[in-house]
Amino acid sequence: MLEQRDIVPVAPDLIAGTAAAPVLLGSECRRCGTVTFPRQGACPRCTSTDVRERHLARRGTLWTWTVQRFRPKSPPYVGDDSEEFEPYGVGYVELPGEVRVEARLTESDPARLRIGMAMELTLIPAPGRAEVVTFAFRPVDER
Ligand SMILES: [Zn+2]
Repeated sequence: MLEQRDIVPVAPDLIAGTAAAPVLLGSECRRCGTVTFPRQGACPRCTSTDVRERHLARRGTLWTWTVQRFRPKSPPYVGDDSEEFEPYGVGYVELPGEVRVEARLTESDPARLRIGMAMELTLIPAPGRAEVVTFAFRPVDER
């Protein structure tokens, strides 16, 4: 779990590490090696229940992305109806040798997103829930 007491993840068993260096909690099948996120009690590939918790890589590459430009249907969207909607990036980040993770992106400018770019895990306030954090990926500054 996170070390900072003032940080509350949006769901249990999702995020570990620290606020500065969070990690996602996945699972890994001991029989066939399949990695999943979020954690699962059984392997989706071989159905084995011999799975262990795995801390996923903090960095990966952007596999595909889009920008959400209108308020999604609620639920599952939990943003405040009274606030103006802010477009946000969303995509799949491929963690090397592990799994593709669907996540929010901190970047919503299409000019700054490209498939294959390096991304790193970070935490952001959960939409509509200021005291709670969720995970997102941000572009890695390679300069
Ligand atoms: Zn398996």
